[in-house]
Amino acid sequence: MNGRMAKAARRALRERNEQLLAAIRDAEPVFQEAHGRAWESWTKGPAMLFVPILCDDYSPELKEMVVVRRQAAFTGACPCGAVGRITEAGSYDMPHESGCPAAAGVFQALHQAGRWRPDMAGGVNVQG
Ligand SMILES: [Zn+2]
Repeated sequence: MNGRMAKAARRALRERNEQLLAAIRDAEPVFQEAHGRAWESWTKGPAMLFVPILCDDYSPELKEMVVVRRQAAFTGACPCGAVGRITEAGSYDMPHESGCPAAAGVFQALHQAGRWRPDMAGGVNVQG
C-alpha cells in the first residue's frame, strides 16, 4: 500500500468511526438482558453496553462505582473526561481516568460483593 492509499484508508476508518460514534450518541439505550444479578446488557444504536446493576445492599463505594459507570455508559461521557471511542479492533469502549470511581476495579469489587464471576462477561473485555 502506498502512502496515499494508506492515508485514504485511515480517513475512511476515521469517518466510519465518527459515524458509529454519532449513531451511538444519538440512540436511546434499549435493555437486552440481565447476566446474573450484577450486570445488564443494553444496546445503544450499534453498540452493546455491559453495565453493572445498582443493588441496595452494596457498600456506598460500590454504589458510587455503579452509578458513575451506568451514567457514563448511557450518556457516552464521564465527569473524569472519558468519552466513548471506537478501538482499532472496531469495538466501542470508554477508558476511564485512574481515580474515577468507574475506572478499573469495578469488576473486582463486584466479584468481591459476590455478584459477578468472570464467566458472566460473555466475552466482553472486563479490564476496564
Ligand atoms: Zn470516568
